[in-house]
Amino acid sequence: MDTFNPYRAPSAPLYVAPVRPRPSGACWREGAVLRVRGEGELPARCVKCNAPVPTPMQRRSYYWHHPALYLLLLVNFLIYLVVALIVRKQLRVAAGLCDAHRRRRRHWLALAWLGTFAGIGTVIAGTGNEHGATILFGFVLLLSTLVAGLIGARILSASRIDADGARFKGCGEAFLAGLPGAEAKTG
Ligand SMILES: [Zn+2]
Repeated sequence: MDTFNPYRAPSAPLYVAPVRPRPSGACWREGAVLRVRGEGELPARCVKCNAPVPTPMQRRSYYWHHPALYLLLLVNFLIYLVVALIVRKQLRVAAGLCDAHRRRRRHWLALAWLGTFAGIGTVIAGTGNEHGATILFGFVLLLSTLVAGLIGARILSASRIDADGARFKGCGEAFLAGLPGAEAKTG
């Protein structure tokens, strides 16, 4: 018969590993949307193509404010900017990108920079010649390449951030397919 030893190691397992290992920082998919609860790391895979990526992954800040706030742009840009900076919600998330998608992102950023410089140069040249069409072309070039470059370079885009966590768009289906479904949020 065993003598009672209050200091012996417990025989019952203290921790039972879940069947599906959960990445740190709960995340799951809802259709094409990536849901993230709290700040945390996503699985160490490219969010576009699901290729493995080295860790640690770089954390980036994502911002969101209610879309109705854009109505303030009709009033005044500065008022919008101040209010947006005050009320916007922020979440820091580490999302992975493989080498190929990192390169593609750099190309989009390069386009944004080149287009901005070329656009400013064209506006200056048009101003010097007092040529309205050249100035207009410069502005269109600047804005279109800047917007296209920044949208193309986006890793994730926050479609909502609130106390409940964040919703992101921009993940590839291959990455989303590896995530648990919506039922995981209660688990
Ligand atoms: Zn990739």
